[in-house]
Amino acid sequence: MLEQLARYDTKLRQLEQKDRRRRLCAEAGIDFSSNDYLGLASCPRMAAGTMAALERGVPLGAGGSRLLRGNHEEHEALEAEAAAFFGSERVLYFGSGYAANLAVLSTLPQRGDLVLHDVLIHASAHAGVKAGRAEAMAVRHNDAEACEEAIRRWRQGGGIGTPWIVVESLYSMDGDRAPLQDLMAVADRHDGFLFVDEAHASGVWGPDGRGFAADIEGRENVLVLHTCGKAFGMSGAFVAGSAVLLDYLVNHAKPFIYSTAPSPLQAASLREVLRILRDEPERRRRLHHLVHLADRLSTDLLGTSSGSQIQPVVVGSNGRAIRLADRLRQDGFDVRAIRPPTVPAGTARLRVSITCNVEEEEVRSLFNHLAVALMEISS
Ligand code: PMP
Repeated sequence: MLEQLARYDTKLRQLEQKDRRRRLCAEAGIDFSSNDYLGLASCPRMAAGTMAALERGVPLGAGGSRLLRGNHEEHEALEAEAAAFFGSERVLYFGSGYAANLAVLSTLPQRGDLVLHDVLIHASAHAGVKAGRAEAMAVRHNDAEACEEAIRRWRQGGGIGTPWIVVESLYSMDGDRAPLQDLMAVADRHDGFLFVDEAHASGVWGPDGRGFAADIEGRENVLVLHTCGKAFGMSGAFVAGSAVLLDYLVNHAKPFIYSTAPSPLQAASLREVLRILRDEPERRRRLHHLVHLADRLSTDLLGTSSGSQIQPVVVGSNGRAIRLADRLRQDGFDVRAIRPPTVPAGTARLRVSITCNVEEEEVRSLFNHLAVALMEISS
């Protein structure tokens, strides 16, 4: 058993800040694996904003949970600014996206409700659904009709509760988009809710980086999760929705109630992120330019591309994925192999992540090296 466990590569590669913009980790190679899509994790404006907050006395730690002494004006200011930014009635700030997904999905759907979730939703959403009281059912990937059909069958079978549709707007391991308008229409037709995890879209896509759900956010039957550990360059997550739902979470969601509040300093820094998203559209423009380039190169090499900053290179076997990643690491590129159970069995892959931490030439060079490695490492 221990031998089996030891086979897994659990080494956490340490990130050292060397060249601020281009190299996240000298040892691991050029960054084609992080989710620091806009390069905000180590940008000077973020550092200056954080220093300014420290100087005006914002504490590092909250010292307790939000419901006790841990509630700080920085949390509330951040939530108010985030609500205005995303156009939702209210926002609640959690310590992580994992905790937020767990909180929402274990707390809001009630006994007698039906949770229909895309088969490919993130492990944290699975954990939330599993911990909740509602009936749960996986639905074929990106299939709004299958969702509708499942609700119809459930109603015919006597289901009288509320249907909840749970999806990601941009899938973390495939880089493809959910048909949000169709799913919204299904939720509307059946008096249901739509919960959209925008982890990989927030900051990158939509007006001002508000995500793909920007045009439905703010509706009564929509809840949106924006994680802060990816394009926002920090950590934590916003849950955006109606005041009544978020009040319910404050009073009933265990991951919110029984956990130390996020750092007030981090909350202050995240306010700076929201300003950067508005003031510096050139970051998104640069990223979109690199994404278009990667899309073209991927189509030329593999015949497929995702249309987003997440470009999967599906190779099937675990061994081949690992050998490809190792080979690219030797060539100076940090690309990670993703294996089951993170992805479905038989779909091990390289997950190429495009960020503002790389240059156009480096994207071209990666695909050149990938072409050679794919030929050399055939099984
Ligand atoms: N949802 C999705 C789609 C994710 O990819 C992740 C992070 N891998 C999470 C939620 C969890 O977010 P966090 O890292 O902030 O816990």
